[in-house]
Amino acid sequence: MKVPVKQTLCVLLSLVIAFSASSVCFAANGKCDCGHTPVVFVDGIGGSLYLVNEDGSRDLVFTPDTDVIVKAVVGLLPVLPLMFFGPTTGVFERALSKAAGEIFEPIRCDENGDSVYNIKPGSGTEVIKDLHYDPDEYYQFAYDWRLDPMVNAQLLDQYIDKVRSVTGHDKVILSCYSEGGEVTFAYLSLFGSAKIEKYVTLCSAFQGLTAVGYIFTGKINVDPKQTYNFLTSFLPAMFGENKGIDFAVKAAKYTGLLHGLCRAINRLIKNDFDSFYEHFALPYFGQMPGIVDFVPQEMYGEVRERLSDPKHAKLLARADQYHDYQANAKQILDEAVDGGMNLCIVSNYGIHVMPFVGNNPYQSDALIDSAKSSGGATMAPVGQTLGSDYKQKVQDGHNHLAPDGSADASTCMFPEYTWLVEGFCHWNRPDELMSWLIGFKGQPTVFTDERYPQFLVGHDINQISPMK
Ligand SMILES: [Zn+2]
Ligand SMILES: [Zn+2]
Repeated sequence: MKVPVKQTLCVLLSLVIAFSASSVCFAANGKCDCGHTPVVFVDGIGGSLYLVNEDGSRDLVFTPDTDVIVKAVVGLLPVLPLMFFGPTTGVFERALSKAAGEIFEPIRCDENGDSVYNIKPGSGTEVIKDLHYDPDEYYQFAYDWRLDPMVNAQLLDQYIDKVRSVTGHDKVILSCYSEGGEVTFAYLSLFGSAKIEKYVTLCSAFQGLTAVGYIFTGKINVDPKQTYNFLTSFLPAMFGENKGIDFAVKAAKYTGLLHGLCRAINRLIKNDFDSFYEHFALPYFGQMPGIVDFVPQEMYGEVRERLSDPKHAKLLARADQYHDYQANAKQILDEAVDGGMNLCIVSNYGIHVMPFVGNNPYQSDALIDSAKSSGGATMAPVGQTLGSDYKQKVQDGHNHLAPDGSADASTCMFPEYTWLVEGFCHWNRPDELMSWLIGFKGQPTVFTDERYPQFLVGHDINQISPMK
């Protein structure tokens, strides 16, 4: 009797092994024909970062703990009056650099652009097969937003491979927002589009943003008029129309409070920008490749000079590589599209940019220039039109002018594949449009569906309607 039991056990064991082996084979080779291409989403800057301790435990260091922020701010209070009234001794500026340094020390990068401490991002969405059957679900790739987008692109490639293998789909839809546009664009530059069925961008930073260029070049100036314009266009987009907020902003303007605050900030910047740059901005943020790569092409030469110290040679080589891709974006995306990748570019506009860029009313989503995130739209200053005698710059047989005269999309890299949402800031998401673009089988254009023309108006935080 003993022998058959042993044999039975052996057979069972063999079956288990054979079955697990074949099920592995099936998962690796079996194609899924569910009709839902899995979506990989790459979010913007600011994902959680953890400090990995020697025993393997993790501490959240970004976003910093409230206690850490409160302690640093309390330390600043005794010297705060100097910001408004004191002599220009640099005491306040040094205290500010020190306080900010205490908050951000754990996420500092070294002169090469690598993390000083052992930092890891969150784990992102677990790659399980069931998730991709639901068209509203996606796999979120978590990344360390400080680091070289080329390094993150390699990790993204591994994540995409995992999603392809687990779901049984050859290709994924790659969707991104803000800095996710930088990482995914680095991905396409390095790996091409063989694994990408469709690329959908929202407020993408792939061409950089002028505001960051201003910070790196020290051209910061807080203009009271621009601050007022910014607040009155940004706050309603972000939080909806609100009489209380509206009243508070107007009150700040007419009581002179806004003016006084702007003057104090400008005084601070003017007094000691170089010291603040050297002791805080550069070591804490200027050495993060993910942030240096936000500098747009036309300002990069000047920023390179600021980083000309040989100790930054590696950082600079990395930034050069990304800026080389940035300059050749049209060609890189053309190759991807020619290779069969569908492309949808969505850009929010009509909001005044953050007010530290002086009195500069270029169209933005409050953070990123809309001309850049749209891949080259021609835009009137916020609140103005291109003029009644304006003619569409590129005559391609279609109309690419906004009905309200605010923009001309004919100069975009891909005029047929670019949607512009007026009145939405960087943190508004045109959900309905994004779902339609992602769910559409094949390549949608701005003429495919009259509900989603080239120009849309954003309202009520996440609602859209065609611009009339
Ligand atoms: Zn499937
Ligand atoms: Zn056209």
